[in-house]
Amino acid sequence: MASADGIYNYSAVLMGSPIQLRLFEHNEALAGAVFRLIKRYEDLFTVNREPSEVMAINRAAGLHPVRVSPPVYQLIRCARAASLLPGSAFNLAIGPLVKRWKIGFHGDSVPPAAEIQRLLALTRPGRVILDDAASSVFLADKGMEIDLGAIAKGYIADRVRDYLRREGVSAGLINLGGNVHTLGAPGGGWSVGLKTPFAPRDALIGTLRVADKSVVTSGIYERYFERHGRRYHHILDPHSGYPLDNELQSVTVISPDSLDGDIWTTLLYGFGVEKGCAALRQRPDLEAIFVTRDNQVICSSRRQFQFTLLDDNFRVTD
Ligand code: ADP
Ligand code: MG
Ligand code: MG
Repeated sequence: MASADGIYNYSAVLMGSPIQLRLFEHNEALAGAVFRLIKRYEDLFTVNREPSEVMAINRAAGLHPVRVSPPVYQLIRCARAASLLPGSAFNLAIGPLVKRWKIGFHGDSVPPAAEIQRLLALTRPGRVILDDAASSVFLADKGMEIDLGAIAKGYIADRVRDYLRREGVSAGLINLGGNVHTLGAPGGGWSVGLKTPFAPRDALIGTLRVADKSVVTSGIYERYFERHGRRYHHILDPHSGYPLDNELQSVTVISPDSLDGDIWTTLLYGFGVEKGCAALRQRPDLEAIFVTRDNQVICSSRRQFQFTLLDDNFRVTD
């Protein structure tokens, strides 16, 4: 059904999230093809359900290299490079810790400190051994596990964008839950909401207006558990093995590609506002919105988007 503004909404549940596709035409076949494309990539990258190529790599840890398809190889290569950047909070080999904490899944618990230390030794990105010629991945130590949870949606959002472009779609939006990608500028641009942390689902701090951009948000309020009066959320500090603990409630990255948005939300989470804004000066194609625990909304710059504040409990600064 088209809404009053001529937009047709299609939805599905994939990658554990409600997925939304918005088009300016009634085209069930196109929507079906997009959802199948997402499912195909999800099946390659998941670490929660067999069969998946990433799970095959993890099962062979300490044993032998595994030859993988080009998308899996490319994404792992890119995730490994991001993990090895100086001071990076991103770590593709974080799997053993993610599996142990189980944050956002049934059976979550705070691991004993000694166990965290033991698992940290199994999360060294340099021990992910790549062979370009063979398109193979080898985890050098038994017990290592790759986790692409912080980057897979970005890669997939970019592939959906490419597919829609190839199909001649001039305006559309895909929302993969945390990763929004937009094509075109209908009515001057797409409006993308910035959620209010720890508030009812549709409460917004404000909206961003963008055209042909990806908007990725990662926050401590999406998946977490509480134990003994403390909150444990799902972005882990690869250096301590505990959830990243700083001044931030969420980080949003606006960029041409969603893959960059995914990598940089995690990097910026680790850097915090000051170091994060300094790092972004080297990347004029990327912009970020930091939401701090004391309700400041800090924009690194505002070249690719306009921001409208809706909730006056928050203050905007540049
Ligand atoms: P969201 O789940 O809201 O999209 P992210 O994109 O930040 O959030 O991805 C979080 C997921 O990434 C976690 O659930 C886990 O699977 C994985 N992860 C957690 N910590 C890290 C980290 N430091 N580096 C890379 N991946 C991580
Ligand atoms: Mg994400
Ligand atoms: Mg991320």
